[in-house]
Amino acid sequence: MADDTYDVIVIGAGPTGENVADRAVRGGLTAVIVESELVGGECSYWACMPSKALLRPASVVAEAAALRGVTGARLEPAEVFKRRDSFTHDWQDDGQVQWLDGAKISLVRGHGRLAGPRTVTVERAGQGAPERVTLNARQAVAVATGTSAVVPPVLAGLRPWTSREATSAAAAPGRLAIVGGGVVGCEMAAAYAALGSQVTLVARGGLLDRLPPFAGELVAAGLRDAGVDVRLGTDVKRAARASAGPDRVTLELSDGSSVEADEVLSAVGRAPRTADLGLDTVGLTNGSWLEVDDTLRVTAADDGWLYAAGDVNHLALLTHMGKYQARVCGDAIAARAGGREPAVRDLASRSWVPQVVFTVPEVAAVGRTPQQAAAAGIRTRVVEYEIGNVAGASLYADGYAGRAQLVVDEDREVIVGLTLVGPGVGEMIHAGTIAVVGEVPLRRLWHAVPSYPTISEVWLRLLETYGL
Ligand SMILES: Cc1cc2nc3c(=O)[nH]c(=O)nc-3n(C[C@H](O)[C@H](O)[C@H](O)COP(=O)(O)OP(=O)(O)OC[C@H]3O[C@@H](n4cnc5c(N)ncnc54)[C@H](O)[C@@H]3O)c2cc1C
Repeated sequence: MADDTYDVIVIGAGPTGENVADRAVRGGLTAVIVESELVGGECSYWACMPSKALLRPASVVAEAAALRGVTGARLEPAEVFKRRDSFTHDWQDDGQVQWLDGAKISLVRGHGRLAGPRTVTVERAGQGAPERVTLNARQAVAVATGTSAVVPPVLAGLRPWTSREATSAAAAPGRLAIVGGGVVGCEMAAAYAALGSQVTLVARGGLLDRLPPFAGELVAAGLRDAGVDVRLGTDVKRAARASAGPDRVTLELSDGSSVEADEVLSAVGRAPRTADLGLDTVGLTNGSWLEVDDTLRVTAADDGWLYAAGDVNHLALLTHMGKYQARVCGDAIAARAGGREPAVRDLASRSWVPQVVFTVPEVAAVGRTPQQAAAAGIRTRVVEYEIGNVAGASLYADGYAGRAQLVVDEDREVIVGLTLVGPGVGEMIHAGTIAVVGEVPLRRLWHAVPSYPTISEVWLRLLETYGL
């Protein structure tokens, strides 16, 4: 039994936890990080990196196929999976552990649980009885435990894939049924269709329902072009895995149709990893999302020692936003430890979240949708433009299909939201993020001249359509 004291204890060594600890150390504090699986978290091994490694070849092949005069681009699944393995380092975290060492962050492996204010116990399963370590924090404990995939009751017991199996599979199944039309469902449908699976995507509503409807419609068209059987407005009523004969899953849908597949992927959402975190020992509810203020302090915890950053606070389930929150959080802890109140910020995670969906076509968005802007009481005007009409887009792909939508705050003449759909738009969204976060007046933005002939000329067309 060991007992150790640090300024800051971080539970969870995903991208968020690593950066909270790093920022606290840079602020002059000591920090320990507790990790029960792999240092690097979901993002490195079962989410962003492996999924994008599977998707990039799909978009290269689709883009090549869209150019007259280019022939022969094809995907070699075995090589794609091998390349994916190089990004996940064969699910070994030595490189990330080395990074922690270099950043002077201590690591304790095992499952961390709160055991009262400023105290965390860590249980390490090994040979013999589990070893228990108690850690004490002089300043703060930061929870960065992320989320796990939700499996709906109808799929439980069928050994469904979750995002973990979908991103770490060694080969593509012959037939893959995907339940859920959000980002994970759409991206994995695009990846596995390109890898050779016969994919059926079942969505209760449309696709990508949190974005303006044209995004989901264009992605559905792209998936259908890639051979995916997209079934919208329907749900799984009953599901079974065959108990005899070839291993297969049958789904019966609410529209009366059915799907047979070798594997079924549950992509219906995420739950916070807080069920077994000892939240009840500090007056909070086990299994709940952790609501935070703009310095990432948990609002329902007394005395201001508990912070929560990244997926677990439910503000924006994205790595870049988790890392941003981590910087805010680590700085706030260091400032308060030095007797200073952290500068009050507008936390970008509440209304300025950029996101890219790496389907074919891509979707890239930042800020508010027209509905979200209206709900926030903003007097808006929505401007749309077909990206395919821009010279750069027609050079980029024959028959380029894509659309841009700008949401303008009419009273201040600034952009509060932008959605782009089309090949190659992912790399364009940061310009929108700068315009939205910088609240650049439209009349000033008019002088930011896009290069000819790039797809970015859509900016000029949008401003002209607005009337400038
Ligand atoms: C398939 C998929 C693709 C995605 N693609 C993208 C993308 O392209 N871009 C993007 O921005 N986001 C993407 N995301 C989202 C992204 O993965 C998450 O937003 C990100 O991983 C959150 O980081 P985090 O550090 O908050 O949590 P996590 O990465 O989940 O890390 C949490 C860590 O805490 C550890 N932990 C949990 N509980 C305990 C405990 N009690 N004790 C000790 N350790 C514990 C876990 O083992 C884990 O290592 C994707 C998600 C999925 C599922």
